[in-house]
Amino acid sequence: MNHDESRALYDRALSVLAGGVNSSVRATQPYPFFVERGDGAHVIDADGNRYIDYVLGYGPLLYGHDAPEPVQSAVQKHAAAGPMYGAPTEIEVEHAEFVARHVPSVEMLRFVNSGTEATVSAVRLARGVTGRDKIVVMQGGYHGAQESTLVEGGPGNAKPSTPGIPSSFAEHTIPVPFNDEETVREVFEEHGEDIAAVLTEPILANTGIVHPVDGYLEALRDVTEEHGALLIFDEVITGFRVGGLQCAQGKFGVTPDLTTFGKIIGGGFPVGAVGGKAELVEQFPPGGDVFQSGTFSGHPVTMAAGHEYLKYAAENDVYGHVDRLGEKLRSGITDILEDQAPEYTVVGTDSMFKTVFTRHGTAERADACADGCAQVESCPNYDVCPKTGADVSKAETDRWERVFWQEMKDQGVFLTANQFESQFVSYAHTDEDIEETLEAYKQAL
Ligand code: PLP
Repeated sequence: MNHDESRALYDRALSVLAGGVNSSVRATQPYPFFVERGDGAHVIDADGNRYIDYVLGYGPLLYGHDAPEPVQSAVQKHAAAGPMYGAPTEIEVEHAEFVARHVPSVEMLRFVNSGTEATVSAVRLARGVTGRDKIVVMQGGYHGAQESTLVEGGPGNAKPSTPGIPSSFAEHTIPVPFNDEETVREVFEEHGEDIAAVLTEPILANTGIVHPVDGYLEALRDVTEEHGALLIFDEVITGFRVGGLQCAQGKFGVTPDLTTFGKIIGGGFPVGAVGGKAELVEQFPPGGDVFQSGTFSGHPVTMAAGHEYLKYAAENDVYGHVDRLGEKLRSGITDILEDQAPEYTVVGTDSMFKTVFTRHGTAERADACADGCAQVESCPNYDVCPKTGADVSKAETDRWERVFWQEMKDQGVFLTANQFESQFVSYAHTDEDIEETLEAYKQAL
């Protein structure tokens, strides 16, 4: 593959953009390919190379790069008619009504502009309504670029995971291992009266995809209720990706107090939202006094795109298609691994998938595995899949990034460039795309 144009663009970018990019994960080595355009499930780079795309903008593009016609015309209509006003519009009401109708925990919403803004607002809301400062998060979980959750360490020794955050912030955050009920119960025994919320993704989707073991999310629901704390599900990735229109909370049957959304809910445009019980969400101004505000929040173009995205999924067999191809891909890769790399594991559910270069889930967390994974039906590797963020950290991450990812890219398959980020199937992918991808896996592995 020729990459001369991409290399030249990267040289230009390096002198005017920090690291040549606007989000660090895009700075792949030795230089990123620059995308010229999308086409269905594919992207075409500045040199004319074509890739089957499983990054899909890191999750938002449920339909790939050709949104259905109603999405495109709604976007054009609202862009031409505004595009924004600093005053309310009907489309944001319609979008909120749709989400509230389908997602079990949501009675009321506040739209914001990114997943980060959603989790920042949800944490502030939880602290504001409970009058407590501490939050519990999962090791290996990710909630965007926000001060309260960029932490490392464990209970009692959390510290900021990046320069630029005062260590006093981390004093209020308690990271615990995912799928470890005992530790979270101990933390509540010790700090219960100071904990405002447990904030977790229902499936860790930024650490190689880690599924909840059976009963774990229920235990979080119980322990938060027992201690008067809130349970917040961060469904920025899983929302409208796992469990169809009911999201992961519907699939697992556990209803949080608050839910954060992003990605798919904006139909490919910048978005976030906090949803939940009306009595909580109404504590944002003007009804309440927990500060929250945003110039672009509820942007008509975003609302129109997100609303048409979800409506189309309600009226067509979108989730049937993406979930079937997701399963075909996971089971095809599982067969290839069995043959060529039995030390690796396929993880994922619905239309999410990843290959983690480890099988530490079996060796080190046999107790959790023995309890049975919640993904028994959909994950052929449920008995060996990683159960904590730490399990995935032990994987051969360097080999994945420097060798495997490059190999796949050279064969025209665009995967997320590190071991930790999820990959996705879109409505635009076809059986032929999956077969071609499996052939590439065979070669690369
Ligand atoms: N929460 C989760 C679970 C995410 O995966 C992400 C981003 O990938 C965020 C929050 C932050 O969203 P954004 O990048 O839109 O700020």
